[in-house]
Order: sequence, then structure tokens, then C-alpha cells
Amino acid sequence: MNAETLTVENEKFLSQRTKRVQESPTMQITTQAKKMMSQGLDVVSLSAGEPDFPTPDFVCEAAIKAIREGFTRYTAVQGIPELRRAIAEKLRRENNLNYSPEEILTSTGGKQAIMNALLALCDEGDEVIVPAPYWVSFPEMVKIADATPVILPTTVEQGFKITPAQLEAAITPRTKMLILNSPSNPTGAMYSEPEIRALMQVLEGRDIFVLSDEMYDRFTYGEVEHFSPARIENMRDRVITSNAVSKTYSMTGWRVGYIAAPRWIIEAASKLQSQMSSHTSSISQKAAAVALIGDQSVVQLMREEFKKRRDFVYTELSKIRGFKMNLPEGAFYMFPSVEGLLGKMHDGVVLHTSADVAEYLLKKHLVATVPGEAFGAAGYLRLSYAASMEELQKAVARLKKAFA
Ligand code: PLP
Repeated sequence: MNAETLTVENEKFLSQRTKRVQESPTMQITTQAKKMMSQGLDVVSLSAGEPDFPTPDFVCEAAIKAIREGFTRYTAVQGIPELRRAIAEKLRRENNLNYSPEEILTSTGGKQAIMNALLALCDEGDEVIVPAPYWVSFPEMVKIADATPVILPTTVEQGFKITPAQLEAAITPRTKMLILNSPSNPTGAMYSEPEIRALMQVLEGRDIFVLSDEMYDRFTYGEVEHFSPARIENMRDRVITSNAVSKTYSMTGWRVGYIAAPRWIIEAASKLQSQMSSHTSSISQKAAAVALIGDQSVVQLMREEFKKRRDFVYTELSKIRGFKMNLPEGAFYMFPSVEGLLGKMHDGVVLHTSADVAEYLLKKHLVATVPGEAFGAAGYLRLSYAASMEELQKAVARLKKAFA
């Protein structure tokens, strides 16, 4: 047997679960762009899903202190009390949500936090409604939990938001959960309070849970105020709010995420986590607690910088004929429709799909983007503006040239 590669002979040994799941396409593109960079090519990457700022100093200091003081052993599965208290305080301060530390489970990043919730609630045959364009991992995570993702498509024309009628039409007796992600990765779209209330009204009286992924709640730019579904009193017992310190504090590598939910869900998810990973790093937990209750001006600075970049990229890309876009109200992504460029010749190449557009941009113009196919929305491109202004200026000039 070839020990290095997956072949027809050894594929039969893989579980059905593994075969059902796709590898993250955003990682693949980032890898390709990095490879080109290592070959000396001047690639501008707009494919990153993480802030380009360093982790704040005071957070790093807290981690160093934790190591020096020997805080390097197992902790409680749910996480250290000071971290869970800090999360409860954050949820109160920023989201108007009242959760006790017992209603919070901390995990290895937002990813594990979400996966825990899905594993705790979903069985084979259950349906989980996932609005598209979706964050790449949602449908795959649903599949890992043996459930079936039910994709609800949206378009740039409808602001990338599902309507109550669409939600109503997608519900079946097997619907177990709805996943909401506002602000959204990849579109930056946000649901307003009335929009969330209208969607939640559809779920009233039904045993359907809501997973509200609020990863980008601090990166909003003034058009729409972030609103958590768990604020709706009669929904609180069926909403799982997930978040992490990853993006907010530029701590993607530290791996601290969490869910806040009714205690019985937290206990079930903790039981699963206790057998899989126990808890996230003790050192990261100390650092995350300090990030959440410490000086929040770092977040404000990042937010202001992202807003400046968003306005610049939006204004410039709007000038490209063939790009159709909405103003992203949050997160750090743009999601233009490139339908207008398809079927046409560019530099002697005919682009048929958004994947062709992404490949053309990377290979011919050295700009890395992610094609909409990765997010369940062919015909679009995701561009991350978590890159320096200088890089963004370079990227914009190349994009204009590519489609001149
Ligand atoms: N949810 C969304 C919408 C994301 O964009 C990401 C990261 O890209 C995550 C969750 C997972 O974040 P973490 O790095 O904390 O696992």
C-alpha cells in the first residue's frame, strides 16, 4: 500500500463520514497562492479569512505570565471560570444577552464550538437549514454530524438574506436547526433586528433550534446594528450563540471559541468535548479572558481600519464593469457577482465560471480570491479586505487591468 497518497485501494478503508466531507477550499487557494509566492511571484492575497493585525500586546503578556506561573495543566472541560465569566460579561456588554458562566462552554476555536452544538443536537435524518452563500464549513460540519444540510440560496439582489417565506417553505418535519451568520462570511451582509424577529416568528411554536454564529459581531460599520436572536425572550431556550476571540482580537492561532446556550445543551456538548479534546489550551484561555475584559480600544482601531478599507475597495470595485456588489455591512469580505464577466474573452481566455475568474486572476494577474463555488454561490468571488491598504491598492489596480 502506498503510505503517502490516497489511492483506489486504500480509499475503501475510509469511513463514509470522511468521504462525505470536502476539504476546505479556502485553505486550498491560500496554499496555492503561498506556493506561488514561495516561487518568487508577487501575489496579492485577498483570500485570507483572518485579520492582518498582530494579537494585542497585553493579551500576549497574559499568556506569557500564565506560562511563567505554571498555568500549564488540564483545566475544567467547560473552561476556566474567569474565562467563562469574561464571556458572560462580553455577551452582556456587547450583545445584551444574559448568560451565566454555567451556560457557556469554551472550545478549540469557533469551529469546535459549532461542531459541538451540531453533534449534541443532530442525528441522521435531521435537516439543518443553511442559507447560501454560506461559510464553507457549515454544510460539511452538518454532514460530519450525520445530518443533512438544506441550502437556501440568496442573491446579491436580495442582499444575500433569506426571507421569512423562504424559511417557511424550507421547513419539514425533519428540520432540526437553522444556522444564521450575521455579519456573514462570505458576504458581509447583516440581518437587522426586524429581519431577525421576522425569521424567528416563523420558528415560533416549532422545535427548531437556531445556531447563531456571531463571529464578526464587532466588525460592523454603522449601517446595521448587530442583533442576537437569543435576545428574543421566547427564543432564548432554543438559540445557541457561538463566537470566538479569533477574529475580534486577531487571535486565530490561539484557538478559543465558545457557545452560550441553555444549560442542558451546554452539559451535552461538554460531555462530548470531554471525550474528544477536553478543553482548549490553558494558556490561551488565560489570554482570551484578558482580551475580553481588557482594553477594547484595539478592537475599535481594527474596526475603523477595516471600515476605511471596505469603503476604498467597495468604491473602486464598483467601477469595474461586470462586477455587481452590495455594500457589506460587516465582517471583512466583499462578495461581488461576476456574472457580467462570464462567457467573455479576457486576455485571450474565455471565462465560463467564477472558478475560471478566480484562476484567471491568480495565474494571470497575481491576485488570490476565492470563487463563489466554495460558498455555495457560483457566479461570485470572495475578496477579503483583511490586507494592508498598500496591498489593497495594488490588488484594485490589477483587478481593473484584468477586466479593462
Ligand atoms: N464562523 C465563521 C463565520 C468563520 O468565518 C470562522 C472562521 O473563518 C469560524 C466560524 C471559525 O473560527 P475559528 O478560527 O475560531 O475556529
